[in-house]
Amino acid sequence: MAAPSSSGLEVLLSSLQNGDDTESMLNTLNVLDELLSAGTDRRIHYMISKGGSEALLMALVNTARTINPNYTILLPLLHLLAKVGQRDCRIGVKAEKAEAVLLTLSLLRQNMNHARRAAACLWLLRVFCSSVTTATLLGRNRGLDAVFKLIYPHTTKHLRTVKAAIDALAALLCSKANCKTAVAKGYISDLLKLYEDWHINDASHEHVPIRRSLLHCLHHASNTSVGRTTLVAEGGIALLYHTTQMCLATKSLECLVESAVQLMRKCYPKCPIALTSDQSVHRFPLPGRPDDGWDDVLGLQDDSFEDDSDDDNMENEESDYKDYEDDLETDLNKLRARPESDRPLEQLAQYMHLCPELHHDFQDLDSGSEGEGSSDEDSLLNGNFEDKRQRERHFRAGPKSSHSPSSSDTCSKAGEEKQSLTLKEGHPEESQLKAQDFHSHNLSCSRTKQSDHCSMVDRLLEKYGACVPHHDPRLYAASAAHTKSIANYSILAFPDFWGHLPPRGQEPMANRRPHVQRKKVFEDIKRLLCPEDIINKVVFDLEDPSTQCSSTETHPPSLRFFSKFECGNLRKAIQVRSHEYDLILNADANCFQHHQWFYFEVSGMVANAPYRFNIINCEKGNSQFNYGMQPVLYSVREALEGRPHWMRTGSEICYYRNHFCPRRGQKRTNFYTLTFMVTFRHEEDVCYLAYHYPYAYSALQSHLQLLEQSVNPRKVFFRKQNLCSTLSGNPCPLVTITACPTSRAWKHLHQLRNRPCVVLTARVHPGESNASWVMKGTLEFLCSSDPVAESLREAYIFKIIPMLNPDGVINGNHRCSLNGQDLNRQWMKPDPNLSPTIYHVKGFLYYLNSIGRTPLVFCDYHGHSRKKNVFLYGCSMKETLWQSGSVVDTASLKEDPGYRTIAKTLDRIAPAFSFNSCNFLVEKSRASTARVVVWREIGVLRSYTMESTYNGCDQGIYKGLQMGTRELEEMGMKFCQSLLTLRRSTMLYSSRLISHASNLLDLDDSLLDHKSQNCFEDDEPPCVEEIEFASYTCQDQGGDELDTEVNGNTSSAEDEEEEREKEEKGQRRSDRKSRLFPHLVHAESLETLTMKKNTCNSIDITNEYLS
Ligand SMILES: [Zn+2]
Repeated sequence: MAAPSSSGLEVLLSSLQNGDDTESMLNTLNVLDELLSAGTDRRIHYMISKGGSEALLMALVNTARTINPNYTILLPLLHLLAKVGQRDCRIGVKAEKAEAVLLTLSLLRQNMNHARRAAACLWLLRVFCSSVTTATLLGRNRGLDAVFKLIYPHTTKHLRTVKAAIDALAALLCSKANCKTAVAKGYISDLLKLYEDWHINDASHEHVPIRRSLLHCLHHASNTSVGRTTLVAEGGIALLYHTTQMCLATKSLECLVESAVQLMRKCYPKCPIALTSDQSVHRFPLPGRPDDGWDDVLGLQDDSFEDDSDDDNMENEESDYKDYEDDLETDLNKLRARPESDRPLEQLAQYMHLCPELHHDFQDLDSGSEGEGSSDEDSLLNGNFEDKRQRERHFRAGPKSSHSPSSSDTCSKAGEEKQSLTLKEGHPEESQLKAQDFHSHNLSCSRTKQSDHCSMVDRLLEKYGACVPHHDPRLYAASAAHTKSIANYSILAFPDFWGHLPPRGQEPMANRRPHVQRKKVFEDIKRLLCPEDIINKVVFDLEDPSTQCSSTETHPPSLRFFSKFECGNLRKAIQVRSHEYDLILNADANCFQHHQWFYFEVSGMVANAPYRFNIINCEKGNSQFNYGMQPVLYSVREALEGRPHWMRTGSEICYYRNHFCPRRGQKRTNFYTLTFMVTFRHEEDVCYLAYHYPYAYSALQSHLQLLEQSVNPRKVFFRKQNLCSTLSGNPCPLVTITACPTSRAWKHLHQLRNRPCVVLTARVHPGESNASWVMKGTLEFLCSSDPVAESLREAYIFKIIPMLNPDGVINGNHRCSLNGQDLNRQWMKPDPNLSPTIYHVKGFLYYLNSIGRTPLVFCDYHGHSRKKNVFLYGCSMKETLWQSGSVVDTASLKEDPGYRTIAKTLDRIAPAFSFNSCNFLVEKSRASTARVVVWREIGVLRSYTMESTYNGCDQGIYKGLQMGTRELEEMGMKFCQSLLTLRRSTMLYSSRLISHASNLLDLDDSLLDHKSQNCFEDDEPPCVEEIEFASYTCQDQGGDELDTEVNGNTSSAEDEEEEREKEEKGQRRSDRKSRLFPHLVHAESLETLTMKKNTCNSIDITNEYLS
């Protein structure tokens, strides 16, 4: 039927253009309207593709150009054009070409007093304005004036025409030139007055669409800066605020409220953040870079701003690699090719000492090794626990000797004040120890008080007891004394010192109450409307020491803040209202961006009163804080009462774009507010708030020491070495863990030396403290006497670099190292001076490769701020080519599918893990990350990034819960367990151990059997409330709404008497068909026409005709 149908349509269209007698013209229009009104939009699009718009436009021009236009034809023609035109994306251009644009405008001018005709013209003009140039053309011909004249204050007459005029005005304001004209003519102020008038007089809310359309005009006008400024200057914000407050209770006004809120946010004047400079407070002179080379560095970064972890596709980031990796994703040869080594082979010998297990002589195994052989499996399963407990007891009994020399060592060596603990002078000897006593200021140090603070620590421990396993406060303090920070921190944060235990019980994701963001935005807007209510008092400023130690009473009373300790990040705190604070984060050292991580102390609170905290210079476009995530809080008072927990805390949490901008206006940088309420339980407590569970460098160092002391050196080979020094001179530890050989017999040593290597790294991004907790779980499990851990040690040599970016962690960075660069983008060509840790890990991997010991597995632990669950990114040539749409025939390509094994296993055994979130693409934007470089250059098949959410899980047994450190540590353990599956078949060890391990894995299997295997939604659904406001478009009316208005044009009782009479006789229809055909067209005429066409062309003009 296709061919005859199209010719049938052509007949209709040509009769439309040529027809000059009214009746046949009307008949044709009627048939078209009939056809287009039934069925779907497909018919209209088909007609458009056959030149329908042009034919209608020509008919319009022909009819309208006569001296006395025939409105009997014109009116239905205008209506039909509006209906067809709004579905034709090129209607504006076509109308200009047909010279119909200004003609329609002049028709409007001729019919200003003829409501129905005017409405028809307005609809068509609005449709034409879908093209900005057409809108501008109309504006230049004073179209705005003509349209604006038809917009009236509240009325009950000609409502459809008024609405059509407002909608046409909104469409005209898509053009920036028209916006400027509108501003110049004072239309913004007029529109605001009109909105207020309708708001006041439309008390029964019958005309919400008109009110919404007025807001729509203001929205379009405020897409220009002059529009926004004018709206503010004309008191628009106050007007919108007050009218909106009155709408809140009425559900049918929701669309007005949302639109007005977005409009206020959009027009809220931009405000540079209250800092003297956007640059970090922390500056560190870089080797080979003059101090004054600062601006260059900063300037460069402006263009390479990159805002998220390894997983988002950032266009600007991709451009960095354009030159050499442009077609990495599609070019098989590039994917396959192994890049040349970035350094000469002879330089690799320096890494030999990092494989001590290969050269160790295991002398101690000769004596007394009998009875401890691994053949005695029962002792492995049970004995070790005893061993360990004894050692732990021993350690606790005599810790002083182990730490005292080291701390005094540093003090004398450095000749400067270093961390240690001291008692505040004049502290009442036997008074109650209260939370306030442990305010960090009281923990400040001085060498002369050494004995005092030792007794303080002892007293503390005696009274409250250290209850955190694998943590010793004295050891922590001692290791913190060695840690070098840019600001020379001399104070310990209590949670790091005292330790953290995961709380009992689960921590569900926070419920988001409806419109919580709106409530916050209203409070923000009130700052502008009632400036007299705003305190605006700086209560903490890193750069102003006078704000840092005030424990004196202030008026009005305010909280006290502090962040000058390891990992701390809070630059400034401003009291806005009595219980509300704006908090500004410090940029990464040597940098002016990457604000996200925070960790600070707060004290001086009143119990049971809600405080609002706003972190106002966040940079990411969205956050899990919008999806149930809470920050964490640690209360000293609770800790001293035996509950040393970081807890998820905070209510009314939301994350949205605000009106602040950087000091030195980087145009593209927008800031976002993370806001949350905290109600403190105790009066005058000392609390700590953080983005996520902190894990400091000093904590790692003391943890490694404890681990080393906890293992049985005859069974577990544990060696902590320095990979290299960081820029600021902190050692970067590398840990080797494996099983000692059963004896020095050749076969045992041979077995040891042939164990495959597993290389694990973490915390290249300092803000990803979750990665450290996962690593902690890995380390503790590998050092444990768990039989699976034993098997793993016997199967592999673990090479672990638990913190790739110590300097970043120590100085409270979120993303970078001291060189202001993301170290996980340096792997391709790491600079030995600026990125020493990456340079040397890569060198070490090259070394392993050069001695024929390429790692079996490489995994870099990360944290992920936008997704839930834990998952792996790996590297697969096939999946990359396949997903990038490469033409290479992937079917014939051979690839070891082994890269999936670990992920598959983890999906079964690790509750937090989700295989559906995993991804094995080698993206060019990731070409310089650890995972891709280790895969391509070192040739490690199983090279991964493991991402752990900051939030929680949306599948499995942890569904709906936030991750705690227990779950993160468990993940680290499960990762190790999954490695066993790689070796199940090849292991030479006791079958009983293997079956034990298998049972363990299978047991987990059954536990997790119910785990959802359904497709996992990768990204969050759109947030319930708009995070952005710039991109907000108030819901444009769909085609159906315009159709309804067009079709209803004759059913209205507002027009001329005669017409009303006719209408009353007309039939109401609910479809798209108009009811505007004058009654001279009888029902029969349609049939006649149909018959006529049928006989003429022997085609079927029925409803299938266009479908
Ligand atoms: Zn990361």
